[in-house]
Amino acid sequence: MTKQQLLEQITKLKVWKKRGQRAPHKPLLLLLTLSRIQHNKERLVLFSEIEKDLTEKLIEFGPQRKSYYPEEPFCRLRTDGLWELTAKQGFQIPPTGSIQKTILRKEQVKGGLTQDIYNLLKSDQELIEQVASILLEANFPSTIHQDILDAMGLDIEVSQQANANTQKKKRDPKFRGRILQAYNYRCAICGFDVRLGNTPIALEAAHIMWHQAGGPDTENNGLALCSLHHKLLDRGALGISKEFKVIVSEKANGYIGFQEWLLDFDGKELRMPQKEVFMPDVGFTEWHVREVFQGESLYGT
Ligand SMILES: [Zn+2]
Repeated sequence: MTKQQLLEQITKLKVWKKRGQRAPHKPLLLLLTLSRIQHNKERLVLFSEIEKDLTEKLIEFGPQRKSYYPEEPFCRLRTDGLWELTAKQGFQIPPTGSIQKTILRKEQVKGGLTQDIYNLLKSDQELIEQVASILLEANFPSTIHQDILDAMGLDIEVSQQANANTQKKKRDPKFRGRILQAYNYRCAICGFDVRLGNTPIALEAAHIMWHQAGGPDTENNGLALCSLHHKLLDRGALGISKEFKVIVSEKANGYIGFQEWLLDFDGKELRMPQKEVFMPDVGFTEWHVREVFQGESLYGT
């Protein structure tokens, strides 16, 4: 496999399900694997060794679910031609599909990138960065890329050029301007409207349903938010209820700033946009609550 083929293979990874349902299992396992390469770990890793770490990443960066299935990417990444499994002698690994956790542990199944892909990446920091960039760009909003890299222990400068040649979904360049204007250049949550001269500063246009999930660049899928509330929204620390009230995740906590910047807004209505037609669409806010918001809201709004 050549570098170009690897990048194409990564770009083709099928991770989104119907109706924008998130399934970031494979990207998260791959990012964890890139981190292992950077840290000179062996190519193949026991499922039991990586299981806890992968589950934690699924909980932190994937949608909230009743159960988590780290065995799924560990087995199914094989279908994408990137991954292989080995087991202790005497155990016949099924050629496709998933294998139960208990069996993976008991049979000491190991998984890892195929030897040729591992060799390509092992000696090429730039290629690691390119692969990581494609995975992040295709699956997560840019506000949380650094959080994911930090959590993975990946030392990477995520550059925009790295994935310039991948098939990015087109964004409307006017989205930002239209959203900021729709909300009168104020954060829809806290009202932040600081300017430097005439330019709004630290004010951003957020997608409610992520662009990566197919969320459109329309006013009813956008919110003008200060950088802080944008990030809190994208990480799922806060969400928007059906009544357009702010909901705060019960997992959020802290001392300095927590009350003023987050908790005080729990149950408060969003600041309305200039026109009624710009109001968020409930389909998008519900998507966010289902796929991004972290758990129960504090007061069950
Ligand atoms: Zn704000």
